[in-house]
Amino acid sequence: SLATTLLIFWALAIAIAYMLSRMSMRPILVSWRKQKEFSANAAHELRTPITVIQNQMEYLLTKPKRQIMDEAVSISTALDEVNHMQTLIKRLLMLSRGDANIVQIQPKNVDLKSWTHKITNIYQPLAESRHKHLEIDTLDTGTASFDPDLMYQAVVILLDNALKYTPEDGLIKLATKRAYNKLIVSVSDSGPGIPDADKKQIFERFYRVDQSRNAKTGGNGLGLAIAKFIVQQHHGKIDVRDNLPHGTTFVISVPIGQGRRAATKK
Ligand code: ADP
Repeated sequence: SLATTLLIFWALAIAIAYMLSRMSMRPILVSWRKQKEFSANAAHELRTPITVIQNQMEYLLTKPKRQIMDEAVSISTALDEVNHMQTLIKRLLMLSRGDANIVQIQPKNVDLKSWTHKITNIYQPLAESRHKHLEIDTLDTGTASFDPDLMYQAVVILLDNALKYTPEDGLIKLATKRAYNKLIVSVSDSGPGIPDADKKQIFERFYRVDQSRNAKTGGNGLGLAIAKFIVQQHHGKIDVRDNLPHGTTFVISVPIGQGRRAATKK
């Protein structure tokens, strides 16, 4: 009868609506909440340096004009904060471009040795100036197909962290090699290490291990999220391990197509 048909139809509609809400609404709600959290964190991170700069500038303006040049300390504090904000904004932009799916990887045939050397040339003097040792290990040469600029950004994030968290005289190692059509890049340091309980979360946006330990290093918790994003764009993975006796090792591994081994190079 019509009533039974309507009842069945009604029950079916409710069942479908329920299934749809279970299937699709949850991720939408979760990602909406995450997006809100992301914007709130971003705004918070930007507000702190802006307040510092504002205070420094207001303080400078209380000085007589001819004395302003004597205030090098507050000018350089303000500049530090501007640099911090610039990094933060670059990272936020990178992540939101990633979210909007507009970051395209542009694989090129990369010469591994010269790619690694480009990193070494910048980071060896930087490590020395901070009284830390950087050791480079290029176990393999030849070419490999990946996006050299994006992968460079990912490695730089790991090296910056290694330098940041390793005490003076500490040792940092960068190793690159090819293994079974994968590019493997590892960065080890002799810093404080990362507790097991935090290892899974460090790749999340704005996650930082132990705020008090981090207060003086002045990061923002976005670096590893970006490194992970870049590696995933390459269909690869990034892992974190303990570096014995103490410290951390990050390992990136990405498929690199056929490439060409140095041995076949004439
Ligand atoms: P940040 O800008 O805070 O360094 P990241 O996303 O790069 O942000 O790292 C997230 C957190 O992981 C850091 O705040 C720090 O607590 C921890 N971490 C990352 N790299 C290292 C490392 N090499 N040694 C010790 N802790 C690290």
